[in-house]
Amino acid sequence: MGTIITVKDVENSIRNIPDFPQKGIQFKDITTALKNPDIFSFVADELFKQYEGKGITKVVGIESRGFIMASILAYKLKAGFIPIRKPGKLPAPTFSKSYSLEYGLNTLHIHQDALDKDDVVLLHDDLLATGGSASAAVELINKFDVRNIYISFICELTFLKGREILGTENNIQTLIKY
Ligand code: AMP
Repeated sequence: MGTIITVKDVENSIRNIPDFPQKGIQFKDITTALKNPDIFSFVADELFKQYEGKGITKVVGIESRGFIMASILAYKLKAGFIPIRKPGKLPAPTFSKSYSLEYGLNTLHIHQDALDKDDVVLLHDDLLATGGSASAAVELINKFDVRNIYISFICELTFLKGREILGTENNIQTLIKY
C-alpha cells in the first residue's frame, strides 16, 4: 500500500526555480511532484474526484504540461482527449488564438473538428498564472458552442489574478494556491 498523501505534500514536492525561464519568474516545476508515484496518483485522483459524474465528454489539455493530467482525466472520466497545441504541430485545419503569457507571447491552436455542440468540456493545464493561455483556450472551445466548460489546474498563482481574467462564469478548480 502507498503512503497517505495530502495536498500539502504535493505543494512541498513542487520545486520552485527562481528566474526561469527569465528573470523575475518563480517557475513551479511539477516534475519533482510527478516523479513520486504516490503523489502522481494522488493528484490524478483528486482532480478526477472534482469532475466525476458531471457528464464530461471531452478533456482538453493545453500543450505541453497540461497533457499529462488531461490524458489521465480523459481515461478516468471515460471521455475523449483533445490537444490544444502550439503553432505548427496540429496537422489538419485549426482555429487559432494569440495572447500574452506571464513570460512572452504565444499562439494556441485546436483542430476545427475537435469538438461539437453536444460536448461537455473539461479544460486542463498544469498552472494558472495570468490566465492568458486558459482564456485563449476557452475562446477556442467557445467556437464550438459546447454545452458547458469546466476548468482545472494543479496550481494557481493567485497574485496574478488569472481567475479574474477567466471570469466567474467559468467553473474553475485548482488544487494548490500560491
Ligand atoms: P498564463 O497563460 O500566464 O496563465 O500561464 C500559464 C501557462 O504558462 C501554463 O501552461 C504554465 O505551464 C506556464 N507558466 C506560466 N507561469 C509559470 C510559472 N511561474 N511556473 C510554471 N509554469 C508557468
